[in-house]
Amino acid sequence: MRTISTLIIMFIATTVFSSPQTGKDTKKDGNGDFRYLTEQFADAKILRYQVPGFEDLSLSQKKLIYYLSRAALCGRDITYDQNYKMNLLIRRTLEVIYRDFSGDRSSEDYKKFVVYLKRVWFCNGIHHHYSTDKFLPEFSQAYFANLIKKTPTESLPLSKDQTKNQFVLEMTPLIFDPAIAPKRVNLDPDSDLVLSSASNFYDGVNQQEAEDFYAKMKSDAKRNKQDTLVSFGLNSKLVRENGKIVEKTYKVGGLYTQAIEQIVVWLESALAVTETPEQRDAVKKLITYYRSGNLKTWDEYNIAWVKDLNSLVDFVNGFIEVYGDPMAMKGSWESIVNFKDVEATKRTEILSKNAQFFEDNSPVAPEFKKKKVKGVTAKVITAAQLGGECHPTTPIGINLPNAPWIRKEYGSKSVTIDNITMAYDQAAKGNGFLDEFAFSKEEIARAGEYGHLAGNLTTDLHECLGHGSGQLNKGVGTDALKNYHSTIEESRADLFALYYIKDQALVNFGLVPNDEVAKAEYDSYIRNGLMTQLVRIQPGKTIEESHMRDRALIARWVYEKGNAAKVIEKVTRDGKTYFKINDYDALRIQFGELLKIVQRITSEGDYNAARELVENYAVQVDPALHKEVLARYEKLKIAPYTGFINPEYSLVRDGDTITDVKITYPDDFAAQMMLYSKKYSFLPVR
Ligand code: ZN
Repeated sequence: MRTISTLIIMFIATTVFSSPQTGKDTKKDGNGDFRYLTEQFADAKILRYQVPGFEDLSLSQKKLIYYLSRAALCGRDITYDQNYKMNLLIRRTLEVIYRDFSGDRSSEDYKKFVVYLKRVWFCNGIHHHYSTDKFLPEFSQAYFANLIKKTPTESLPLSKDQTKNQFVLEMTPLIFDPAIAPKRVNLDPDSDLVLSSASNFYDGVNQQEAEDFYAKMKSDAKRNKQDTLVSFGLNSKLVRENGKIVEKTYKVGGLYTQAIEQIVVWLESALAVTETPEQRDAVKKLITYYRSGNLKTWDEYNIAWVKDLNSLVDFVNGFIEVYGDPMAMKGSWESIVNFKDVEATKRTEILSKNAQFFEDNSPVAPEFKKKKVKGVTAKVITAAQLGGECHPTTPIGINLPNAPWIRKEYGSKSVTIDNITMAYDQAAKGNGFLDEFAFSKEEIARAGEYGHLAGNLTTDLHECLGHGSGQLNKGVGTDALKNYHSTIEESRADLFALYYIKDQALVNFGLVPNDEVAKAEYDSYIRNGLMTQLVRIQPGKTIEESHMRDRALIARWVYEKGNAAKVIEKVTRDGKTYFKINDYDALRIQFGELLKIVQRITSEGDYNAARELVENYAVQVDPALHKEVLARYEKLKIAPYTGFINPEYSLVRDGDTITDVKITYPDDFAAQMMLYSKKYSFLPVR
């Protein structure tokens, strides 16, 4: 459920979380030298992403994207304020220095200041977007005072009658003191989660009071026979006012009204160019919800949104994910505007339609196969605009809505964002990773040509077919394998994909052009499972995460089984370790054998066999190889976190008539952030 983290693919291009894309063509859109990576600073890198297919949309669809992209930008300040109540004041201060500082801009200190400001933009505030720890500048407090001194007084966001010196005294601890607001989201159960978290969803209220408040709200709703399914607390801040605890609702006329009014203006423009009655209904309900703040209307909107399946253009806009709140109640504002990648979605449809064929022909024992199997279709989308929590860092997949009862009764939309994974894959090409860890030039070339398709197709097979294949014996529950369940389940889905990616049927279905796609996947899977995924493990630690265990299990099992015949060969060259596949067909047979074993374990709920497989193959780390891999990776200086520059859209007019929407791809992260702050800042900084 929910958003799939970008972090998962931070090092390795082939991941079960990357997304589908058609093999040939449309994607490259004639712009082979598009520059993805624009810069790196601290632990971050900035990429651009392309929006292939935008030019082919109708004028009306382009307008819809334009209006929705404006709505996505208008909520930007909300994210900063939700993350920490001083973020907007800090950002404004840094931005006016950046704009108006009259001192030396070539000094090392000034460069450090710029890095700090970029990190604030990158994280939508002063806390690391992933660890949620407060990060500190690398310049001194004295230098900060100097920056303020050489910035015009009238530019600075001083409070009434405040002098520059007083302002410096006010701002310095906020920025420099590690003890002030040290963590955005504190999940340590031994502390008061609300009081110890810097996120701005509660004010003057502690954890117990917040829990009591919502417990009472729920019991009141039950007693009064009101809707008890709504997502209580999702769109409000809980504050103490005149001694009483009350909700301040995010809505027109309520908290964040200045930004929400603007969002509504653009949603109203969008209303005029919606594609289907269902979409029109959804947008209307969203507007109604933003005006009333009524969470029942929010649910109605979500139901309408789930029902809108025929529009090409789609979007997310609202207070949605609750990771930013240690109590997991308050929604952070986010937006993604996108349109369906019709070609890529066809592929998941082909797999889904032929689900029974794959089931019937798998190497699994007949008694463990499903007599009737149903594939899952996931939509593949092209992101056109990222906003709020989803920008600059962004998920690569979305599965919404979050309300379990709506998912159960009305379903959900599951999407993968192809142009974002494409940007990751393309940017990874030049980073030296493959050159360092791939055995041969041939492997590198194959990865370059087929890697993206191979990774996406493996994901499709894994998600659309793998998890849904096979059946459990009567009396065996999904909990039979207990702590080994996730690893075995992920292995099962991966093995299904690995077995079938090298099947002639995929060529026959037109999903792959040739056998090279499978080879590219095998190369990267083995390289990753035996070696490169270790870059994500701290020295001395074992493998814990279940997808990583799954990959280690598969790669090490086939390596060991094929050792005598040298199916996979370990080669040392210039003191470096490589793994080279000698026999791809034999490897495929081994994947099939292991799939058969893993399916039997699953179907019978054979806990002991699961434990043996996982403990023998998936957990331990060879310390010598680990050390070597970490050292080789370290030298590449690859920034682990990625943010994106949005494209920019502009209206082309003939008199009063809009005749087109133009898309351009800016390449200056700081310039885009300054532009957004200038044009889309609606909330007061104090
Ligand atoms: Zn999975």
